Amino acid sequence: MQYPLLSRLFLSRYRTPGTPSIGMSSSQLKGIEEYNKKCESGEYSFERVPCLCGSSKSYCVGLACRYGLSTESHLCLKCGMLRTDPRPTEESLNKFYKELYGTIYEFAADQEVFDSELRVEQRYQEQKKRGEWLYQEIKSKLPTDRAPKVFDIGCNSGAALLAFKEAGCECFGCDLGVSSFERGRKEGLTLVEGDETALKQFGTADFVFLSHVMEHLPHPGATFNNIRGLLGDGGHLYVEVPGMLRFHTRAQGMMQYLQNAHLYHFSLGTLTDLARQSGFVRYKGSQLVSGFFTKDSKNTLPVCRHYLRPYLYLLYIFFVEILYKTRLLPAFMAAYFFARRGVRHMIWDIWGFIVRKKKNQG
Ligand SMILES: [Zn+2]
Repeated sequence: MQYPLLSRLFLSRYRTPGTPSIGMSSSQLKGIEEYNKKCESGEYSFERVPCLCGSSKSYCVGLACRYGLSTESHLCLKCGMLRTDPRPTEESLNKFYKELYGTIYEFAADQEVFDSELRVEQRYQEQKKRGEWLYQEIKSKLPTDRAPKVFDIGCNSGAALLAFKEAGCECFGCDLGVSSFERGRKEGLTLVEGDETALKQFGTADFVFLSHVMEHLPHPGATFNNIRGLLGDGGHLYVEVPGMLRFHTRAQGMMQYLQNAHLYHFSLGTLTDLARQSGFVRYKGSQLVSGFFTKDSKNTLPVCRHYLRPYLYLLYIFFVEILYKTRLLPAFMAAYFFARRGVRHMIWDIWGFIVRKKKNQG
């Protein structure tokens, strides 16, 4: 296969399936062995898919994921979306989530913690905290004349809903896996099995949120459409996904982020575009990625193109990885911040420091 220049540059680094780039437990390694067997025997089958924008023109920038599983990552030349292609068929994907996802991914979020109970508790507390933050961010937008209705799609234990419940909201959650429901239900949350359509029975919501769900979905556009149907007029949506323009923040760079279960790697631009096509307008967001949306008066809007930024960014992270390896990153970061803040700010900082010191002495 002939690869263009950017592809070749990246594949020199990301082309070795079989070698995990993160620490793994023995049960994870067993899960991976089983996964590879199922792929070889054809039990898990794969299909080629075009990008969400409809284009098939792309650069392959990686052949493996962080678990060492064979995973091709393609950067769309039209809209700048990074996607997994080929990906498991929907049937195989469901099988994978039921059979091996838990085994392979269980300890991945924190390599230090190899105790599953501790990990579950840690995740619960993390979600609870995230929910508290989210409530503070959105509370001014929620209706005050009645109890606001809040939906969490892909809710896990429902911990993120607790802050909303305490504030008097009506809270509902859905998830495909029900194993974590018990704890949330004990707290009095209504949690149901299924995707976002399972929440239709609870009426229209004032606020819907999804945290780290969109990147797993084979048809994220359809999910946005369904959510539009769930939201009442003036309703709000919050979506959080791992941001592809944040690859440089980890020492392993892109390798830390690539996972065979992530079918799409969004930037704020590509996520916003997808939401726009379902009639959402963004009013706040960051490259984490986190995006706050509200319903637009128009049903659908044309797509913008975000190709150049991801392309240049991928070149940039390659450069940052070299800096990590050569331990030159701190020097580079110092120079970067200096250039960014500008000499003027620096002088003001130093001046402020001298004044404070004089005051303290006085
Ligand atoms: Zn595209």
